[in-house]
Amino acid sequence: MNADYLELDDVRVTFDGFKAVDGVTMTVLQGDLRFLIGPNGAGKTTLVDAVTGLAPATGSIRFGRDELVGRKVHRIARLGIGRTFQTSSVFEQLTVLQNLDIAAGAGRGPLTMLRARLGVPPAVEAALETIGLAGQRDQLAGVLAHGQKRWLEIGMLLVQDARVLLLDEPVAGMSADERIRTGELLQRVGAERTVIVVEHDMDFMRSFATSVTVLHAGKVLSEGTVAEVQADPRVQEVYLGP
Ligand code: ADP
Repeated sequence: MNADYLELDDVRVTFDGFKAVDGVTMTVLQGDLRFLIGPNGAGKTTLVDAVTGLAPATGSIRFGRDELVGRKVHRIARLGIGRTFQTSSVFEQLTVLQNLDIAAGAGRGPLTMLRARLGVPPAVEAALETIGLAGQRDQLAGVLAHGQKRWLEIGMLLVQDARVLLLDEPVAGMSADERIRTGELLQRVGAERTVIVVEHDMDFMRSFATSVTVLHAGKVLSEGTVAEVQADPRVQEVYLGP
């Protein structure tokens, strides 16, 4: 039994007295493709910031046996918590393969970097297949399509062996075809890891979420399957008005 899970207990983030995250308790298991939704300002990004150490939180955020609250950003990343932002962060002047090599070597010693140059390590090869860019390995990242750049970012997290992937609006700006491919990619990744997706695209959520947490005013308003959350009158009120 794998012990990879994220367990948040009474997590709070306050900015100058303003409660951006106001007592969030939730558990995300390995194999879960969890969508985090809610209106603008609900606290979604701040909650992700709390998990990754970017926002100062109180309460408890456990990843397996490790407590994340109070740890520094790079320490949390090394424990296997990976994240993408709304804007793409690939190295445009480098090839797909070089981007993955750098990610694979990040935080490791020069020996690992040297080995990475001598041949394509199995983890990098596997990531290329998973993200569907094996045929583009020698292309400059800068010339990739928007969707492919986002997949490369996910690949960079995979080669770092992130066990938890926190993705901020991964399909924003994507074509319909790219959205479907991204959903399928996240399903493959989510089968073995823990994936949390902050998303505004409700169609995308309906197609791919295995579970949903709805945030509102810093608190969990509703949680469950897509069907359960959609049927919840509190959710309808927040999204459609009373
Ligand atoms: P969401 O991602 O759901 O749109 P955010 O987490 O970005 O919501 O923001 C939640 C609330 O916290 C918003 O009201 C926002 O203005 C506030 N907030 C976020 N970051 C900061 C900050 N660094 N300083 C002050 N207020 C912030």
